Amino acid sequence: MYRKSAWNKYKDKAPVMEFCEGYKEFLSYGKTERLVAEEGVELLKKAGFVDGSEVKSIKPGDKLYFVNRNKNIAAFIIGSKPLAEGLRILGAHIDSPRLDLKENPIYEDSGFVLGDTHYYGGVKKYQWVTIPLALHGVVVKKDLTKVKIDIGEDPSDPVVGITDLLIHLSADQLQKPAAKVIEGEGLDISLGSIPLEGEEKEAAKKNVLNILKEKYDIEEEDLVSAEIEVTPAGKARDYGLDRSMVAGYGHDDRVCAYTSLKAILDTEAPEYTSVCILVDKEEIGSVGATGAQSLFFENLIAKLAKLAGLDNPMLAAREIFENSKMLSSDVSAGFDPLYASVNDPKNAAYFGNGLVFNKYTGSRGKSGSNDANPEYYAWIRRTMDEANVHWQNAELGKVDQGGGGTIAYILGNYNMNVIDAGIAVHNMHAPMEIVSKVDVYEAYLGYKAFLLAKD
Ligand code: MN
Ligand code: MN
Repeated sequence: MYRKSAWNKYKDKAPVMEFCEGYKEFLSYGKTERLVAEEGVELLKKAGFVDGSEVKSIKPGDKLYFVNRNKNIAAFIIGSKPLAEGLRILGAHIDSPRLDLKENPIYEDSGFVLGDTHYYGGVKKYQWVTIPLALHGVVVKKDLTKVKIDIGEDPSDPVVGITDLLIHLSADQLQKPAAKVIEGEGLDISLGSIPLEGEEKEAAKKNVLNILKEKYDIEEEDLVSAEIEVTPAGKARDYGLDRSMVAGYGHDDRVCAYTSLKAILDTEAPEYTSVCILVDKEEIGSVGATGAQSLFFENLIAKLAKLAGLDNPMLAAREIFENSKMLSSDVSAGFDPLYASVNDPKNAAYFGNGLVFNKYTGSRGKSGSNDANPEYYAWIRRTMDEANVHWQNAELGKVDQGGGGTIAYILGNYNMNVIDAGIAVHNMHAPMEIVSKVDVYEAYLGYKAFLLAKD
């Protein structure tokens, strides 16, 4: 249901605008989960958080962080209440849909050098052609040294991209359904076209490999043990003549990651231990060592129990989880007047209406959703209203329309109270996604209120 705009709360809009300047910077740098983890750790260190792997014991007020394989981080502020009384957990994911270079990516055809990709997460493939793209990631060489790749963000850098057929010759292509206009194997990026002097075969490819060798000291075969992500190039920017929105790549779900992180950075002396966990691999099912299904988080809580001197830390971790409350934060589908028919307008998320709560996500019978308990939801309502946070409720589109999942059900398995919360997005999973600045700010306020709320 469209409610009063949260902008009305702010006669002076400067706090909202200023907060989003920080967010734009964060989003512009954090093009991959590794880069977000890296800048997350920077922010934590600056705020006095210390590397938890070097800590020998914990006491109330201590601030620590842990990093899992460079792609998944968790931050804690130890509360004044015993750990066993539970944690207040903010969780979000920091991976976003993109294209990944294949293990054997580079080939030459007709004097043209191309890089083969496999897309990651759900993408409308036709959205990724004819736009400037950047390359970010790492190559790990056989001697285990790691090379950081970063091409296409500096204005003096070249960009790469994917070609599309000219309109003049598209009679056949335009008859295809949208899912087939551009196919997965057609998402190959253009890398070069100058032949290496004195070479007969694959001369242009050899030239590109030489450039990689010179700049990064890597060989073609090193690309097997690499993680090079192809993302939209360029910075996040203000959107709309009134600058009310931010356009950028990766709002899903770095917008919830940033607001969650800022909430814990700006929290002092909580009663309940505050946690912010940022996970990888949500877009492909929360799998793997750095995804939400990994035992990393469970092991970490056991480690914390041990540092707090509790007997039987594994069992203590279970009890801590059972008494915890969580906001599983992920973006919501923002109601778009151009595509109104996919939503139930009474239960849709609107730009400018603040932090979105989803009792359940899923689709067609709530399949795969967490479906939060009303007892917990009522506590959330009270907490948000007492802190004067502008919030709304939504489900993901009409019942039979489609749907999607989040990490909520995974943490729900620990028998804790979890509800989905987040920020409405337009163009979700497109190279350019849009959020409302005031929603970003209300989310931050809501997350902070959650960490400090009374039971
Ligand atoms: Mn998401
Ligand atoms: Mn997503």
